[in-house]
Amino acid sequence: MYVLVQLVYICVSKYRYSKVINEFKVVGNGFSLMMGDAKRADSGSSDSGDDAVVGNVNKHLVYPPGYTGKPKKGHLIFDACFESGNLGRVDYITEHEYDLFVRPDTCNPRFRVWFYFTVENVKADQRVIFNVVNFSKTKSLYREGMSPVVKSTSRPKWQRIPSKTVYYYRCPDHRKNYVMSFAFCFDRADENEVYYFAYSYPYTYTRLQVHLDRIEKKQLNFFKRELLTLTVQQRRLDLLTITSPENFCEDEKRKVVFVTGRVHPGESPASHIVQGFIDFLISNHPIARVLRDNIVFKVVPMLNPDGVYLGNYRCSLMGFDLNRHWQDPSPWAHPTLHATKQYLMNLHSNPWLDIDFYVDIHAHSTLSNCFMYGNIYDDEDRFQRQAVFPRLMCNNAEDFSFANTAFNRDVVKAGTGRRFLGGILDESSYCYTLEVSFYNYFNGLSANPIPYTEETYTRIGRNLAKTFADYYKLSPQMVPKPTAAGAQFKEKEKTSLSKRKSNRVSATSSSSSNGNGNSRSSALSPVPKPKSRDYRF
Ligand SMILES: [Zn+2]
Repeated sequence: MYVLVQLVYICVSKYRYSKVINEFKVVGNGFSLMMGDAKRADSGSSDSGDDAVVGNVNKHLVYPPGYTGKPKKGHLIFDACFESGNLGRVDYITEHEYDLFVRPDTCNPRFRVWFYFTVENVKADQRVIFNVVNFSKTKSLYREGMSPVVKSTSRPKWQRIPSKTVYYYRCPDHRKNYVMSFAFCFDRADENEVYYFAYSYPYTYTRLQVHLDRIEKKQLNFFKRELLTLTVQQRRLDLLTITSPENFCEDEKRKVVFVTGRVHPGESPASHIVQGFIDFLISNHPIARVLRDNIVFKVVPMLNPDGVYLGNYRCSLMGFDLNRHWQDPSPWAHPTLHATKQYLMNLHSNPWLDIDFYVDIHAHSTLSNCFMYGNIYDDEDRFQRQAVFPRLMCNNAEDFSFANTAFNRDVVKAGTGRRFLGGILDESSYCYTLEVSFYNYFNGLSANPIPYTEETYTRIGRNLAKTFADYYKLSPQMVPKPTAAGAQFKEKEKTSLSKRKSNRVSATSSSSSNGNGNSRSSALSPVPKPKSRDYRF
């Protein structure tokens, strides 16, 4: 089995589609049926059909058909053979137009969403149209104006491509699949200028490792990093504990907040949120200090390191959607999930510890804003109390939507962390999925949606941490007075509650009784102004 896994890995990471497709297509698909998850409700199309793509393009030079001369400037070179890279195939349409194929998740061809690739050898002012033609989802925020992100060697900060140059439509040339097309001008053609394109702001496994190494070097006495287990491909599953040193002793009951992220590898915004959460908690901010003094924070920042490394959207190396296997994870098929669950169960049985919260962080491909999913409990009181935390989060974060927050018990979600732990933990504990839009949010102050940036994703992590201080009433003196505009927005949110779909049960507002009013903290929410774009879109 291990050999087979390695085989798939090698084919994914080393070879171009065209070299391996004939040899590995049968192996790849057969393997996925045997190993990976069967059909999923949230995958748009049934399979990848004739467009099956295995492996990433590797410094793939695209010539015009019939061209036999030397490569020239403007013959684009595509590459995705790097960490979190994903691009399976490129078809030349004209000098100005290329069809791009997302490489399906390893061992699970049903998921084709995340892309991340480079283009080089461009001609100055070369204008192109890229068509991404094999997405597995049909509903997408591309309909609402979402656009890919871009950076280049001389401009290393990611920027969103303007919506006006992006089109999302059903295309007769691709079996009526939804196609996302975007126009782009390669304005700089220096030898070293490489252009990077991605579905959303990437956050790689290595970036996390570098960040955690840096924190570890500070030797903070309130920060502990442990190895929970190694993945199939021998990557680290990190567990962080952030709390004041005296809370490491077992001499009195401690409250535990457990946060996980990135079980779905393509949901890179989740990692920006987790980093914001960690960085705030280890900071000198007075709220961070009071939080550390009173709560034990446990964080598993990346639940699916192999999937992140490989550039998958939804699955692990072996093609499993790990967030459907919490009920019975296997140590060999889902090692990271198995180790995390084991650890959580040990915490749960420790008489000195109370797991008060479990929050699993995700990104959402069809909705705006940041919001939460919670559970429905037969115990009405517990169900009502569950709405308190999202309400408080709503007060702290201008991008948090209580209207999008929903509570459910769908059968299909039974294997998620939030649902599984909701059934296991004490009735005084709360389990949520925290979702953030891949695209934008409305803050109620302006009619126009605001596209998320890396900074505003990170800010969610800080606001999440701050909300725990409100929940435990640890910083009452720091809550500012409500603003008129904020109150107006919250009123709108309340009205839209009643419009929710019938399978979603609304939570009863309890914000008026929690003592925090409808205020919105600005102390923790500085949003740097985006730099002016200097691409010629
Ligand atoms: Zn997810």
